Amino acid sequence: MVVYTVRQRRDAILSPDFDARRGDLVAAPRVGVLALQGDFREHRAVLEGLGAVTCEVRHVDDLRLVDGLVIPGGESTVIGKLMQEYGFVDGIRDFAAAGGPVYGSCAGLIIMARAIVEGDQPLLGLMDVVARRNAFGRQVRSFEVDVDVPVLGPPKVRAVFIRAPWIEESGAGVEVLASVSGHAVAARQGRLLTTAFHPELSGETRVHAFFLELVAEHRCERDDDERSRSWVARGQVVS
Ligand code: GLN
Repeated sequence: MVVYTVRQRRDAILSPDFDARRGDLVAAPRVGVLALQGDFREHRAVLEGLGAVTCEVRHVDDLRLVDGLVIPGGESTVIGKLMQEYGFVDGIRDFAAAGGPVYGSCAGLIIMARAIVEGDQPLLGLMDVVARRNAFGRQVRSFEVDVDVPVLGPPKVRAVFIRAPWIEESGAGVEVLASVSGHAVAARQGRLLTTAFHPELSGETRVHAFFLELVAEHRCERDDDERSRSWVARGQVVS
């Protein structure tokens, strides 16, 4: 009888593709989607459609399995609280500090910010931005609009805003990628990417494709590092 570990059982139930496609792991980018709360399934679907291998990240150790991380939309206070409770704050900070790409949509943008206008709630402080929560109004003020995102080229991106934040302030290292009514709604800082809207809900794939490029870049750099490290180690043994 085959005895599975809790991790293997959990992956098989929640992330069947991850296990089934283990053979592809060498080639395909591996992206984890933080699955504490929010629309993580929709992000997985877009990424899988683009050829990535995805898994739901529910334990901080899962970060070791992935080349990139998505923080989905949802409720930032809930995601932040659970992140704190399950030890994700340091885990994700370390992941990003090691060059790991992180993409946050909507609540994910808030979580990645260094501060929010409203005051205090658990944040990761990955990006040098200050977010304003629910900036466009309440749930009933949700809207869809075509947004010009020059790095993705034409046509415009169909963007869904649901109790969305905007970026109130951003530091010198932050590149604003798109604005709506004069307010920044998408930004990049190195391999950190954020959108106030939900491309995963509108059939738009270019934001995730852009993120996968950052993931591929990170993999390349990291694997080269590993090769050069082992090469140096071998050199030391020989001499
Ligand atoms: N307003 C929510 C928050 O503050 C974000 C909404 C969303 O992710 N769609 O967390």
